[in-house]
Formats: sequence, structure tokens, C-alpha cells
Amino acid sequence: MAHPKPGFPEPEHNHGVCVADALAAAAERCAARGARLTDIRREVLEVVWSSHRPIGAYDILADLGRDGRRLAPPTVYRALDFLLEHGLVHRVASRNAFFGCPSPGHATAVELLICTECGSAVEVQEQRVSAAVAGAATRHDFEVLPQTIEILGRCAACRAAA
Ligand SMILES: [Zn+2]
Ligand SMILES: [Zn+2]
Repeated sequence: MAHPKPGFPEPEHNHGVCVADALAAAAERCAARGARLTDIRREVLEVVWSSHRPIGAYDILADLGRDGRRLAPPTVYRALDFLLEHGLVHRVASRNAFFGCPSPGHATAVELLICTECGSAVEVQEQRVSAAVAGAATRHDFEVLPQTIEILGRCAACRAAA
């Protein structure tokens, strides 16, 4: 699987490649786990990947309904649950939104750098952060649930535009 280069995606990058890579990685992961990437699950994943900005369930629903199709919210929520369960998307709690995982199946917790101006996000995996959190949890006899650590800030493009 192609690894995205570090940093925030350039505005002019070929995003079709990001989407194609994500869908291929999802198909591969589902096949390996004997899980079915049904049409609706794949469509929801495609909408999540329509940009590098976390997207909420109602925006996903609106996007899927553009051609006049009526989908019930639970249909989208069930698809999102499937995608979360198989590590294909991450929940972004602070924005009540979902972000497509560029490396599905990673074992460690991830950090998301989120630009508060353009809303773009990038996934990073800092082993030392995971290790520090695990260490603190052990000292406090605390069981950590799977989650995404959200780090808010401003990306280079937004700083340059300011
Ligand atoms: Zn892209
Ligand atoms: Zn991820």
C-alpha cells in the first residue's frame, strides 16, 4: 500500500489516488478478515474519503442523497460502525465526525493533527506518545479504551494564507 508522504496534503494533489488507495486497502482488509464490504459500506467510506477533512454522519447522509436517493440515518450509522470496527475510519470525538484511516489495521493508537481553520487532518502514529499514555495508565491502574488523540492547530497552508 502506498504511504502518503508526511505532512498535510497539498491542495493540488491528485486526490483520486488517495481515494483509490483507501478503497483498495479497505477491500484487502475486509477480504483478509472475512468481512463484507457491501455497496453501502463502500459508498460511505468513499464519502468519508471525499476530502482530508473529518466529516459528520449527517453530511455523509446528505452527500449520499444528492441524487435524490433516500437513506435512513441508521443505514449510515450501521455502515460507519462497520468501518470503525474494521479500523477503516477513526472517530473524531471533538468534531463528532469520521476520518478515513490511511493505514487500516495499525496496532497502536493514533494522533490526528487537525487544522482548526481549513478542517484538514492528518494521521500520525507516534509510538512514544502511545507508550507514554500506556505508562501513565499503568501507574494509575487505568484501562485505556481505543481512541484517537486529537491535536488542534493550524496547517502550513493556513498559516501562509494568514
Ligand atoms: Zn488526497
Ligand atoms: Zn488510522
